[in-house]
Amino acid sequence: MRRFDGDRLLVATHNRGKLEEIADLLAPYGLAITSNADHGLPEPEETGTTFVQNARIKAHAACRATGLPALSDDSGLEIDALGGRPGVWTADWAETGRGRDFGMAMERAHRELIASGAAQPWQARFCCTLVLAWPDGHDEVYPGTMEGRIVWPMRGRQGHGYDPVFQPDGYDQTFGEMDRWEKNRISHRADAFARLIAGSFA
Ligand code: IMP
Repeated sequence: MRRFDGDRLLVATHNRGKLEEIADLLAPYGLAITSNADHGLPEPEETGTTFVQNARIKAHAACRATGLPALSDDSGLEIDALGGRPGVWTADWAETGRGRDFGMAMERAHRELIASGAAQPWQARFCCTLVLAWPDGHDEVYPGTMEGRIVWPMRGRQGHGYDPVFQPDGYDQTFGEMDRWEKNRISHRADAFARLIAGSFA
């Protein structure tokens, strides 16, 4: 596993929330962190059919354009009874043409689960894949997951995305009801970050 020994890192995202979360997690390493917006980079088309493929597309595109090592994040929700959907289309299910509506996306997931006739519990997982890419073309892939189930109706107003319908295994609360620090300690992203730190920064 390749260690990161540079002092500049490009976080390959336009998403402010992701950038801030990643910058916080990497703060102990004293890196100069920039993002796609700082370099005027366009968002590449995510044409992959897996989280790994899409994370690789984002990291390598940013790396090629700037000559800097780049870290990307691709994430989403897999629902077993829906054959793993929405998966890489998790954000797309919320697209309205005038911004994103996650209430609509959660209703779609529930509607499709009812239509599938699948018995509860509706097993699901949040996935997060981090890819760290270097200018010589090498990369390291760090996946993370959080197992849980889809519940209905939605519960809680914390968090973002599909949090109100996802109850992680071993907890009574949904991610939407859970304290933000508690969620960030156990989440799929925390899992992937722990692997990134152990593999490339420790
Ligand atoms: P990406 O920006 O293509 O990686 O899209 C990921 C999508 O997955 C986001 O828009 C969210 O809808 C969803 N997602 C990822 N992580 C979480 C989470 O922790 N809670 C709720 N939704 C999430």
